[in-house]
Amino acid sequence: MSDREQWCELVRKHVHDWNTPATAKIWSPALEALPREQLRRIQDEKVAGAYTYLWNRSTFYRQKFEQAGLGPDSVRSVEDLPRVPVTLRDEWLVDQQKNPPWGTFSPLRQEDWLERGWMMFSTSGTTAAHPRSFRHTNFDREMWAWHGSRALHAMGVRRGDIAINCFSYGTSVAFWGLHYALNHMGIPVISGGGANTERRILFIETYKPTVLLCTPSYALYLGRQMQEQGKSPKDSSIRLLVCAGEPGACVPATKQRIEELWGARINDDFGCTEVAMSPFGYTCEYQVNREDGRVDTHFMEDAYVPEVLDPETFKPVPDGQRGVLVVSNLFSEAQPILRYVMGDWVSLTREACPCGRTHARAIGGLAGRYDQLIKIRGLAFLPALLEDSIRSQQEIGDEFKLEITHVNDMDEILLTTELHPGASMDDLEAQEQRLSRKLKGSLGIVVDVKLVPPGTLPRTEFKAKRLFDLRDRRQ
Ligand SMILES: [Zn+2]
Repeated sequence: MSDREQWCELVRKHVHDWNTPATAKIWSPALEALPREQLRRIQDEKVAGAYTYLWNRSTFYRQKFEQAGLGPDSVRSVEDLPRVPVTLRDEWLVDQQKNPPWGTFSPLRQEDWLERGWMMFSTSGTTAAHPRSFRHTNFDREMWAWHGSRALHAMGVRRGDIAINCFSYGTSVAFWGLHYALNHMGIPVISGGGANTERRILFIETYKPTVLLCTPSYALYLGRQMQEQGKSPKDSSIRLLVCAGEPGACVPATKQRIEELWGARINDDFGCTEVAMSPFGYTCEYQVNREDGRVDTHFMEDAYVPEVLDPETFKPVPDGQRGVLVVSNLFSEAQPILRYVMGDWVSLTREACPCGRTHARAIGGLAGRYDQLIKIRGLAFLPALLEDSIRSQQEIGDEFKLEITHVNDMDEILLTTELHPGASMDDLEAQEQRLSRKLKGSLGIVVDVKLVPPGTLPRTEFKAKRLFDLRDRRQ
């Protein structure tokens, strides 16, 4: 057996309940509800296997290991993982540019690629000049389907549901992964990816799907478009939303708006093109139904090892404290990456969730990346926190734009936001001042407000850009 086959065999050894869920609540309790010591033993075995596979076959990782003074047997468990230096996205860019088009990090060789049935995927930020693309094998994509099934089952998707997937079926790992998972579960799929909003509304009315998959921004947009046509999203067949691409369920005000609009619970699905192609983070029914408004995200720890590190020193921070998320992939044939800096700003808890799952959770979800933290007048904010404060103001519409400038040595913040459809345009100045006072109360900073009629600001189907930092960095 080749070392590649040995690795795939090890991954297969830790698969339970491949075809169907073992219980009504948990797809694979033999993995998801395992006591943590037993979960750790699975992770240890897979970390050792991934390390050996990379040592033997990945040029990129072999160099990295040797530069860190590691030998072929240096990493045998999760405890040894910190000996491996973290991998930053820029290292991949350099590797792919030096060794076009794929780079040297994959353990697969040319002869393997010829027979492993690969498909190409790219990151959403890819530019034409430097496409950053990755290949994933049939083996990997089957694992995505199984992981995705486990996550969708946790969210409450069941046989008998019909899904409408409004993500574009481009080169993104997340949307294909969700599509494969729905196929794996035997859930019918209406692929709304190539259709426009008008047609998707028609699909919903005609074929009566029960599960809607899209970004949180698009869930709001689609629902409002239905309302404009005199239709009620709340009375539609949709009973559950699965959102990806942006934080949704973990931003309380956004969650509330979407759930009121659709009369349905919203769930988050998180991954990352480079390291976490299947749902690494996902919400469960308990978390999205919590009354305190907090929504934690589960991590699939038999497939990944999450670590939370200090962003400057890359040393671990204690559970419950914020740091950057670093992730190791324990299942991929094409890309079993160790210690990739995903960069999300999170804090962990390893307490079991009342849903019965024992895997670690991100407290309050994944609300943004560390490098998106924005400093305004000396205070640091995640864009999702600003979004939450703005959207919790009931009198305003869904869309807004936040511009930060630096004038006379001071940061100035201008919020341009739409009024609710049907709201009065009278006495705008007084309304703007009232909103500004409320935001000062919740954010602690002065925000100038400009109210505009509904429908003025642009809408997007994928990742929305609402924050514009126009400060001159040279100042
Ligand atoms: Zn749970």
